[in-house]
Amino acid sequence: MKRGLLIIFSGPSGVGKGTVRRLFFDREELNLAFSISMTTRGPRNGEVDGVDYKFVSKERFLDAIDNDEMLEYAEFVGNYYGTPMAEVERLRDEGKNVLLEIEVQGALQVIERVPDSLSIFLVPPSMEELRRRIEGRQTESQEIIQERLDKAAKEMELMNHYRYVICNENPQLAADTCALIIKRNIETTL
Ligand code: 5GP
Repeated sequence: MKRGLLIIFSGPSGVGKGTVRRLFFDREELNLAFSISMTTRGPRNGEVDGVDYKFVSKERFLDAIDNDEMLEYAEFVGNYYGTPMAEVERLRDEGKNVLLEIEVQGALQVIERVPDSLSIFLVPPSMEELRRRIEGRQTESQEIIQERLDKAAKEMELMNHYRYVICNENPQLAADTCALIIKRNIETTL
């Protein structure tokens, strides 16, 4: 069986990665599986352990790093986030195209470790729009919002490391473009 692709779906916090991903994820021809990340951040309202993230203690996370369990990891605004390797490998061996929805430091690690991965970077139409989107979420303090925005400005400087950069002005259009790119890449790696 053909091994699945590894797809890195990245972009600054608040750009709408989750919204866009949900609009293309279920398309049958893409044959996608989602890699559930491990994080030390606490769950937000409505988030479910084992579905949105695996929520773990800092000790557990640091153990996973020491035991070489992580494909990549990063510290982001005071918390750790990372991709456990075993599940990604299992899904790819089953032929699934595995999507990692991750921030930039982690994405750069995967781009380097897995050179044939497909990397997509989602950008906001403007930084003002990004601020509106992060503020609209209303789950975080002003300080954290500012930290996320400062971080986003730095992350945007790294977009040239990715194979594709897509502007999320219209989520449906961005999702259609992602789907097209993924489909073409599946076909060309046959
Ligand atoms: P949030 O706290 O908003 O859920 O996530 C913060 C940032 O961490 C987002 O940009 C999100 O995509 C990213 N993220 C989520 N999971 C992972 C992961 O496994 N590894 C890395 N490097 N970043 C992640």
